[in-house]
Amino acid sequence: MGDNIFVTSPLLPPLEEFMPYMEKIWQNRILTNGGAFHQQLEEELANYLGVKHVCLFSNGTLALLTALQALRVTGEVITTPYSFVATSHTLLWNGLTPVFADIDPQTFNISPERIEELITPQTTAIMPVHCYGIPCDVERIQQIADVYGLKVIYDAAHAFGVRKDGVSILNHGDLSVLSFHATKVFNTFEGGAIICHDARTKQRIDYLKNFGFAGETRVVAPGINAKMNEMEAAFGLLQLKYIDGALAARSTIYQRYCEGLQGIPGISWFDAAGRFDWNHAYYPVLVDSDYPLTRDGLYDALKAEGIYSRRYFYPLISSFAMYRHLATASVDHLPVANAIAEQILCLPIYPDLTQADQLRVIDIIRRHAQKTKKSGKPVRHVA
Ligand SMILES: *Cc1c(COP(=O)(O)O)cnc(C)c1O
Repeated sequence: MGDNIFVTSPLLPPLEEFMPYMEKIWQNRILTNGGAFHQQLEEELANYLGVKHVCLFSNGTLALLTALQALRVTGEVITTPYSFVATSHTLLWNGLTPVFADIDPQTFNISPERIEELITPQTTAIMPVHCYGIPCDVERIQQIADVYGLKVIYDAAHAFGVRKDGVSILNHGDLSVLSFHATKVFNTFEGGAIICHDARTKQRIDYLKNFGFAGETRVVAPGINAKMNEMEAAFGLLQLKYIDGALAARSTIYQRYCEGLQGIPGISWFDAAGRFDWNHAYYPVLVDSDYPLTRDGLYDALKAEGIYSRRYFYPLISSFAMYRHLATASVDHLPVANAIAEQILCLPIYPDLTQADQLRVIDIIRRHAQKTKKSGKPVRHVA
């Protein structure tokens, strides 16, 4: 048995290349509050991503929280239950009511068909998620938002570098929010950003992330402290030099899984096949009843051999205690999200994953696929 393999592992450039950045910080003695590295990273990221303005944050959750403040969102916000809890938590922290819409079984993203029927006089915004970095149906969502006068804030925590028809997916909606947490495709240890499309909005967001200060003595809003510090910004600058290689490695690993899992009954995965430029942030597979093990059975079988896959996203956000009282949180209202949450498993994918380790993962999934009853009927594993 080899070493443990986790679902992800952070992108870490060589330590010695980070030291010159640190020396500069020690020389300048500017540790935070929009220093030189902060400014440089905002510019380089805007260039790299192909967006107008980047507002750096200390993490993605505070960026989401601030995005809602920046647009003065009130009342009800239509969102997806199939995401990391932070998406909905930021609505509660703003005193907003999450309204859950079911997802599309092909893309795992909020289904535009389900949005319109949930709009009430209290609805002011839609908060979709580009789940796994797979783009939402941005055109259809914008059409609905335009007709009803709603704001659109994308939780784009998974969508670093994703492009459709050569254009960054982050250019859609009023605002998009990235996470640079250690587990994400691009990281600054902890960090995040709001992407916006004009200088005035950037100015307002910059006030909000710095206590609402609009000058030495003027405070224009009950802002928060959500600034990225210079060490994190410097790490982001270094990491940008390695990001293309990291994305290429992810793509190779993605291809290798697609080939390795080919023909296993009951195992299917998302096929991006030329529809957009994906970042391969995750490798989600669906484990259905044609596979001899349940999803949890396969999760346990992998774990028994030191491979830590993750059930992203299970349980659904709508099933947690602080959400399940909501009318739109019921299982009947969210049949697709509930079905997918029972079948989903995210396999290890990160730039340093070796071919040998990846083949171990594939081999275990294949080996269990061969365990069928004499009748030919798959044996269901009860966890
Ligand atoms: C990671 C993540 C967040 C939160 O980002 P942090 O930087 O960890 O605060 C929000 N939404 C989604 C979908 C995420 O995956």
